[in-house]
Amino acid sequence: MNGLLRTGRPRDACGVFGIYRPGTPVARQAFDGLFALQHRGQESAGIASSDGETITVVKDMGLVASVFDDGTLSSLAGDMAIGHVRYSTTGSSTWHNAQPVYRSAGEAGFAMGHNGNLTNTEALLGMVGLLPGILSSDSDLVAELLSSVSDGNRISHRGTPGDIPTIAATTQVVGEPIDLVSACLEVLPLLEGAFSFVIMDTERIIGVRDPNGFRPLCLGKFEDGWVLASETPALDVVGASFVREIDPGEMIVISSAGIQSLQPFSPHKIEPKMCIFEYVYFARPDSILGGIEVNEARRRMGERLAEQSSVEADVVMGVPDSGVPAGEGFARASGIPYGQGLVKNRYIGRTFINPSPNARADGVRRKLNPLKSTIAGKRIVVVDDSIVRGTTTKALVKMLKEAGALEVHLRISSPPFEWPCFYGIDTPTREELLAANLSHDEIEEFLGVDSLAYLSLSNLKLAVGGGQGNCDACLTGNYPIPVKIEPSSSRLQAS
Ligand code: AMP
Repeated sequence: MNGLLRTGRPRDACGVFGIYRPGTPVARQAFDGLFALQHRGQESAGIASSDGETITVVKDMGLVASVFDDGTLSSLAGDMAIGHVRYSTTGSSTWHNAQPVYRSAGEAGFAMGHNGNLTNTEALLGMVGLLPGILSSDSDLVAELLSSVSDGNRISHRGTPGDIPTIAATTQVVGEPIDLVSACLEVLPLLEGAFSFVIMDTERIIGVRDPNGFRPLCLGKFEDGWVLASETPALDVVGASFVREIDPGEMIVISSAGIQSLQPFSPHKIEPKMCIFEYVYFARPDSILGGIEVNEARRRMGERLAEQSSVEADVVMGVPDSGVPAGEGFARASGIPYGQGLVKNRYIGRTFINPSPNARADGVRRKLNPLKSTIAGKRIVVVDDSIVRGTTTKALVKMLKEAGALEVHLRISSPPFEWPCFYGIDTPTREELLAANLSHDEIEEFLGVDSLAYLSLSNLKLAVGGGQGNCDACLTGNYPIPVKIEPSSSRLQAS
């Protein structure tokens, strides 16, 4: 979900989880699954469970471990559940944007968790006859559409062929209520943009990935049930075995009838484009994405970076956490010894909530402390995964120089980050992205480094197994789905 509030730095994509295990209470496993996805969002966390009759939702601002305790978990009865973690923002409370979203529909209702960001929210708002601002997030909007269609409203295909169809007024019931699966089949083809959904009513859990598969979603199995999760470590932690990734454009329905795979989207829309930045930064190193372990992909990025842009130096270090495997790969390929030069405070969240540039720079000190014995008097190569605004990187370089580094050679395991993402990662506007505004030399000077080099796009693609099926819009400006929203304008929330 993207924010009406703008943060100083990019925000993580969200994480979603779903578990279906007939006869077994699942709240604690949903907690464990969400906990394993905490890196994908630290602003809010929520679980919706169903006992077959009632859906209970517990959600709040904060980390998974602070939102849930024994009391809240025991209130989440039932053998099926979905969960959601949302990335962080600054500013006033956004409790109503916490997920899962719940809507009553038909006799019971449904809950939904969304990872991604829709790109046609204005058209969709028109369909439900609402003005922008009435709903606080694009996830809310999808829930509204699903609820409206479940209650009997029908999509009326007026307009010229190829136009987005319009929906009859929500207040006007023009048909019989339909079940959630049928509602999904009507609503999903209307959506454009990035969406990995988990949706649950009292009988089934549905998992959906948009036709480009921008955000990950995988399927796991128990002997007696199923799991859906943004990333594979959430399967591991609950003891489920990995079955496969949900295909781009696939809808999975899990119920007492077993598991069913449906194709709600027209085949010409299907084009795999999973976010390449999941490999670079977002995903956990122990995730398997597109059949590739993220840690291994990052190591290969570092190796290729060394082949491409090595430099004479005494020690290589990766910036914890995501820069570490790339740093190790760089060291291996360059022959320069790897040293742990930065100690991370392990109790700090991944995205520290930093309201101002100065506070963000201070955040680096809170998060990382240099090991002087590795650094003092040395020429060091520092490997990090990306430069976004450059604020924290500048503070890091200053810290390393103050710790006695003779030279700091910065190596970035991805190409320059020049374009905002509209598909589920809320990045700053183009004006705030360092690489979009300064020349290479100016960036070196701004950061205070002795040299700077980025991994080339072709080498990044090779490191992730070819990259044909990946979205690289943040690095190239090639947006797979036309983007109609101005980067700096207020928009609905993305997940
Ligand atoms: P900056 O110096 O402000 O450009 O920040 C660069 C750091 O931000 C790198 O260490 C990255 O690991 C990290 N980073 C990259 N993308 C994101 C994101 N979406 N959210 C938070 N941190 C990020």
